[in-house]
Amino acid sequence: LDPIEKKPFFNYKPGTKVLSFGTPGCNLRCTNCQNSFLSQFIRDSEHPKLSNKLVFPKEIVKAALQSNADGIAYTYSEPTLFFEYFRDIIRACRASEDTGRLFHVMVSNGFFSREALKIIIDEKLIDAINIDLKFMTQKKYASVCGASLEPILENIRSIAAHKDQIFMEITNLIIPGENDRDEDFRQISEFIASVSKDIPLHFSRFFPTYKMTDKEPSKAESLIRAMEIAKDAGLKYVYTGNISFSGKEKSENPENTYCPNCGKLLIKREAYHLSFNAFAGFNDIKGAFCPECKKEVEIVL
Ligand code: SF4
Repeated sequence: LDPIEKKPFFNYKPGTKVLSFGTPGCNLRCTNCQNSFLSQFIRDSEHPKLSNKLVFPKEIVKAALQSNADGIAYTYSEPTLFFEYFRDIIRACRASEDTGRLFHVMVSNGFFSREALKIIIDEKLIDAINIDLKFMTQKKYASVCGASLEPILENIRSIAAHKDQIFMEITNLIIPGENDRDEDFRQISEFIASVSKDIPLHFSRFFPTYKMTDKEPSKAESLIRAMEIAKDAGLKYVYTGNISFSGKEKSENPENTYCPNCGKLLIKREAYHLSFNAFAGFNDIKGAFCPECKKEVEIVL
């Protein structure tokens, strides 16, 4: 059971808790995978032995209820790998009065088919999605992840076209020497801005892991530089992740949410927990309003 901020979602249902799970396997093979024990388990193990304990969708639903979760997160590896399974869970939740209130979010690499997205949209399966947009070149996607860039960009555009149905946030892991030049930050920021300046973007700090242990962790200055470039591109909600800044390095804390219009502090975060929430007590509201300037802010409560 995780704070939704940990997924990360900062503008969708802040302060809520999600039951999080994933299954073995992934359609990508990122050399920097933080979950390789799960995602690459079958590829890497000489004698892969999967658990023989079956967990039926209704048991996940029961666990969500027992743990007092507000929603369920399909995460850790790529959720469309277990598409039919999460679809059964969502159907089971919605079939019962007790669990119909639960929301459903995906944390995805964005590399899934148009057909999968069509079903997600047609059946209104997912309420929110965080897509990990790793690079802006085909060459990097192919060499580091074994994936293609264009289907991911297409999915981001398609989801944005259904923004009233699926709330989207994007994460970019900053890897030294791979995607930490100003040009990289500019390309990703301008692409997202061209889709919608309302999409929250999280720049996340890299730590050496799996097959990418020859690099240093991303520098704090890189994350701050990325934020500046994203804000210059017009993005309204830009955050950092996996790093904490003391007030000395940055006047505005990049884990907080400020009104993009008047700058009022709306949500203050400390290590995934909210220490201030201007919307406390408001629930199930799409499109909140800044209490100071009264302009609409892109936050789902
Ligand atoms: S997409 Fe995510 S889970 Fe899959 S290999 Fe890459 S980093 Fe790991």
